[in-house]
Amino acid sequence: MISEEEARAKLLETVRPLPPRRLGILQALDCFAAEDYFARLPLPNFDNSAMDGYAVIASDSRHGAKLRVVGEQPAGADRQLRVSTGEAIRIFTGAAIPAGADAVLMQEDVTRNGDEIVVNEDVEAGEFVRKRGCDLSEGQKILSKGERIREATLGLLASQGLGEVCVGGEVRAAIVSGGNELMQPGAKLQPGQIYESNSLVLQALLERCGAVVGSSRHCSDDASALQTEFRAAIKNEVLIVSGGVSVGEHDLVQAALRSLGAKIDIWRVAIKPGKPFLFGRLGDCFLFGLPGNPVSAFVTFLQFVRPAILKMMGATDLDLPKVPAKLVVDLRNEEDRSHYVRGKLKNGNFAPVGRQESHALFGLSQSNALLRVAIGESLKAGDRVDVQMWD
Ligand code: AMP
Ligand code: MG
Repeated sequence: MISEEEARAKLLETVRPLPPRRLGILQALDCFAAEDYFARLPLPNFDNSAMDGYAVIASDSRHGAKLRVVGEQPAGADRQLRVSTGEAIRIFTGAAIPAGADAVLMQEDVTRNGDEIVVNEDVEAGEFVRKRGCDLSEGQKILSKGERIREATLGLLASQGLGEVCVGGEVRAAIVSGGNELMQPGAKLQPGQIYESNSLVLQALLERCGAVVGSSRHCSDDASALQTEFRAAIKNEVLIVSGGVSVGEHDLVQAALRSLGAKIDIWRVAIKPGKPFLFGRLGDCFLFGLPGNPVSAFVTFLQFVRPAILKMMGATDLDLPKVPAKLVVDLRNEEDRSHYVRGKLKNGNFAPVGRQESHALFGLSQSNALLRVAIGESLKAGDRVDVQMWD
């Protein structure tokens, strides 16, 4: 058994970022930038009006002043107009500020009489003018290599006139759920059988971190059936096997992988739940063997598979978001494995929820965060802790 830190370090130094690719901006959502991006255009790109109103010279637009409206400047076409003393130009939101003007009077603050307006409110120089580059300067970094492309990032890239973005490679993952007792939801259960649930959870977790699920198959505890499944699955970048990685007579995954020539780098890690975790390689495919117990599969996915996949996709931040919380109970870890306690973070308080056993799927389903209690660590109610949010 190796330590959790050692296992994580080993697998993260083994997996490498996949070759980058170019994608249309929308397709790049949740991918990771493969290079740094810098602003080609400032934002705004030209001085423009923040309001519908009148472009004026602030110093001659005091309360009570009368100004002659000498033109109209709509958004979308710069009519190259000029404002001189005593004049105003009708202007609309987003329209270029005419030469000479240094402020915009809101239309609500004037009375219009034909070609003339009466100013009802003083205006300061610069008021309602969105200055070129005030939001973003030309050349400023807009996206760092390894950063996730989020919804607003799409808008920022589009604002630069970009149609494509260079992002990290796609990870396709195959899932094989092994176990004679597993039935698909919908089928009738015979005595001793259970419904298979890990594959759906793993599929969702994979998709959440931006991977593509290439296939998801069930397999019985049979060496040659497993070999057949594995042979087909390793055309993907990643194979995730759930169940059958432990030490029982029916745990045939490791032997089946080895018989195909797999190199097993890690097997059994000091983590609770999830001790039987396995990591290896077969050809170009990375292998992750997760224990069948639903909570073990979930926790080992988040602690080991997720960071590995994110690294392959070119991400720099591989950790789950950490949130400070106040622990509401005493917790002590007297075992030889770090313990991931499932709990609920609410209003800044973290409380364990449900049974803390590796099969306890209901408890997991009520939780939204994990608290890692290190080997030998003793925590008291009221302690400040950092919890990992997975929801
Ligand atoms: P194993 O890791 O194969 O020894 O399985 C450990 C426990 O997890 C057993 O109680 C299995 O029935 C259960 N289990 C294994 N695979 C799954 C699965 N895909 N969905 C739900 N439970 C599973
Ligand atoms: Mg089994």
